[in-house]
Amino acid sequence: MSIKVSSVIKTYASQKALQDISFEASKGEIIGFLGPNGAGKSTMMKILTGFIKPNSGSVFVNEVNVIQTPQEAQKNIGYLPEHNPLYGDMYVREYLQFRASIFKIDKSQIETCIKKVGLQTEAHKKINQLSKGYQQRVGLAAAILHNPSVLILDEPTTGLDPNQLVEIRALIKELGKNKTVLFSTHIMQEVEAVCDKVIIIKKGTILIDENLDTLHENNKQTIAVSFDSAVSKEVLFTLPNLRDIEVKNSGWLLHFETEDDMRTVVFDFAREHHLKIVSLNAQTKNLETLFRELTTG
Ligand code: ADP
Repeated sequence: MSIKVSSVIKTYASQKALQDISFEASKGEIIGFLGPNGAGKSTMMKILTGFIKPNSGSVFVNEVNVIQTPQEAQKNIGYLPEHNPLYGDMYVREYLQFRASIFKIDKSQIETCIKKVGLQTEAHKKINQLSKGYQQRVGLAAAILHNPSVLILDEPTTGLDPNQLVEIRALIKELGKNKTVLFSTHIMQEVEAVCDKVIIIKKGTILIDENLDTLHENNKQTIAVSFDSAVSKEVLFTLPNLRDIEVKNSGWLLHFETEDDMRTVVFDFAREHHLKIVSLNAQTKNLETLFRELTTG
């Protein structure tokens, strides 16, 4: 396992930020860490990178105990904190040289990283002359200078314009080809575009920890239907490809396992059972809707 977090609890004075968090990441996975503001994402990331300690629980990165030996663990970890703290008056190359010298990294890495993040044309400029997208690239270059196998990126796409968003997402995906990446965001589409796995956190508790494929599989198609007279669940379960049924308002929510349009099948079912359809509505639940359902209220 690249990352193994077990039963982490963190409180700030009386504020509970993380309540019994456990999750794992395998080598080479890109994980979207998703949750509304205040959910505990940054706190978890600071604990993962060894910058703050939890009240209890354990954290391992590449089998190294982050809580007991943070500096040892940090050799394997690249971290881009929220709001990407950079020295605006420094030139890009100069800044990376400065970082390399603090962390005693071989300077030959600098050009490799500049290339990896696509900064070649901007590397001679001052950081504060760069667009926000290029500044994020500088942050990413700094995070990968020591060639860590695990990257922790705290909201790397916040504040970017749509083109920059696409570019930085592509870059994260590229970096994720041979690194384990955990990045936080509150944008579900971002997770869909980049990640293998999603962890949704709210009020310091994990609500979902799932591979995206499984999540898509489980949310293929839902039909909300109500009939003029009663019908039992047993009879409804004779519908093909039906995974689950819920009672909703005065009708049913039928969750199907197929992406084929099941509306006509439900019409035929109603006719066969002498039921009249009062309302019918197909809802293809995308992950954005799922996220909203889970994190609001
Ligand atoms: P997120 O990154 O998901 O927005 P945070 O980890 O920043 O969430 O915050 C989780 C909770 O912990 C919030 O209620 C926040 O106000 C609180 N919190 C975060 N950092 C501190 C701190 N240094 N002192 C006190 N409370 C904090």
